[in-house]
Amino acid sequence: FLHCSKKFCWLMVLCVFLQGMAFSLEERLQLGIHGLLPPCFINQDVQLLRVLKNYDMKRDDLDRYVFLMGLQDRNEKLFYRVLLSDVERFMPIIYTPTVGLACQQYGLIFRKPRGLFITIHDRGHIASVLQNWPEKDIRAVCVTDGERILGLGDLGCYGMGIPVGKLALYTACGGMPPQQCLPVMLDVGTDNETLLKDPLYIGLRHKRVRGQAYDDLLDEFMKAVSDRYGMDCLIQFEDFANVNAFRLLTKYRNQYCTFNDDIQGTAAVAVAGLLAALRITKSKMCDHTIVFQGAGEAAMGIAELITMAMEKEGLAKDECLKKIWMVDSKGLIVKGRDHLTHEKERFAHDHPHMKKLEDVIQELKPTAIIGVAAVAGAFSEQIIRDMASFNERPIIFALSNPTSKAECTAEQCYTLTEGRGIFASGSPFDPVTLPDGRMFYPGQGNNAYIFPGVGLGITACAIQHVTEEIFLTAAEALAHLVTEKDLAEGRLYPPLSSIRDVSLKLAVKIMEYAYEHNLATLRPEPSDKQAHIHSLCYSTDYDEFVVDSYRWPEDSVSATDVQCHHKM
Ligand code: NAD
Repeated sequence: FLHCSKKFCWLMVLCVFLQGMAFSLEERLQLGIHGLLPPCFINQDVQLLRVLKNYDMKRDDLDRYVFLMGLQDRNEKLFYRVLLSDVERFMPIIYTPTVGLACQQYGLIFRKPRGLFITIHDRGHIASVLQNWPEKDIRAVCVTDGERILGLGDLGCYGMGIPVGKLALYTACGGMPPQQCLPVMLDVGTDNETLLKDPLYIGLRHKRVRGQAYDDLLDEFMKAVSDRYGMDCLIQFEDFANVNAFRLLTKYRNQYCTFNDDIQGTAAVAVAGLLAALRITKSKMCDHTIVFQGAGEAAMGIAELITMAMEKEGLAKDECLKKIWMVDSKGLIVKGRDHLTHEKERFAHDHPHMKKLEDVIQELKPTAIIGVAAVAGAFSEQIIRDMASFNERPIIFALSNPTSKAECTAEQCYTLTEGRGIFASGSPFDPVTLPDGRMFYPGQGNNAYIFPGVGLGITACAIQHVTEEIFLTAAEALAHLVTEKDLAEGRLYPPLSSIRDVSLKLAVKIMEYAYEHNLATLRPEPSDKQAHIHSLCYSTDYDEFVVDSYRWPEDSVSATDVQCHHKM
């Protein structure tokens, strides 16, 4: 539109980017766009049908991702209508696993920037970069520095696909209006040599800047966001490397409204799965001995929240810690072992060192094992059989992603435990039918059960500090939503298709918790919290356009001349 007049430019935006052929004749006449669209009038239902037919013609998931992102740019309401038409189908495209592929190919599929790019060279000017973002009322920021994208490592600026995808789920699953969400890439360089040599790479072409300069950037960013959008603007950290994730969480958690989804969101979804499993085993959390394969962000977050759940049952903190064991790449984490970080120290017990997971399981005879080390097949046949011999209902969570990294498959778990295993995975598995005809539906511990609802709840009542209890509240609420029928079929989570409803219910619970514990700053307290949450939610219905005058003075039309009313 570079050579077009301002009016024509705006008209084209209206035609192409807002609702296309869904404009009524009256609207077309009023807006002066009559003739700029084909004569047929179609409603959003038909537009949805057209999108789905086009979608079916795409060759592979990456093409589907590019197609959906194009739609998000063109017609945002229709994009979310498509997602909501079948969240279960589209989530793996706009989020894991396809988003990982998209991040790897970001330079190739890059069409139009989405979100804010702030670099290490913007230090001292971040506030003015934020001023360039057109929306003034931002409620949720999702930020990454691209250093540990999913299980794919350092993807530098290509990591922007992650905040974009996460925030799309905030809207699709949690109902948060997209204009209130801001994806941010903090580009400090990359240590990925392949990207540094790639002519299509879109980020800074130098090694990662670390140390004081990095910390100063983060400090300035947190302050600038909170100054511009308020202390209750939620800042979600995503896919930061271990070395920064824990310390930044510790540094900012009591200062700003922030959380780390890889640590705390994962924890809540895994603990929700465990709480649902306890309904099957008819036991308490503190009755269990839990071994983690992996001792990174996911393991530490989950272990922390399990400890809290045990403490809530009345067990002393020290005793809770003793029930949790961890195995990392060097073997069992025990007191006095080398390579122990501050986080690992807490779970190091007095015990001889053991190298092999098989031996650890034989020795400790746990009731639950949780795989979060991305070591494919780590739960060997021997381990699963041992778990089934020690326990009537062994809890086996193979949470590593993608599917190829899972510690065991759902089928292996159900078959080797004769259907007694209580299974959850990080990536989806198909239902399993045992030779005796019993059918099991494996639960997928998808973080999307947690972060959109938590984000909505936090922003709905203007919480300023995200406490760990909020995640335990979310986990308890999620486990509570699993029906007896779900449990009987092996499901530890509600169906993914009900995720919108799940998120809204979680948000209400979080609001209730926040007011009870003086965390909410929104006053007066809404008496009907459910109605309050619903009132905040984004609608995919088109707005109605009303123009004050039929005459468009050349080059004088601006967006403010056109008022939007919700179409009923
Ligand atoms: P991370 O890099 O922080 O931690 C990985 C851990 O695995 C480290 O402690 C490392 O020492 C350990 N490890 C590596 N090789 C090992 C080996 N051979 N034996 C034992 N331990 C070994 O990563 P993370 O964020 O904790 O994620 C780990 C896995 O969990 C990933 O596959 C991720 O996709 C998955 N995950 C799943 C969910 C979910 O299901 N909702 C959420 C978050 C992460």
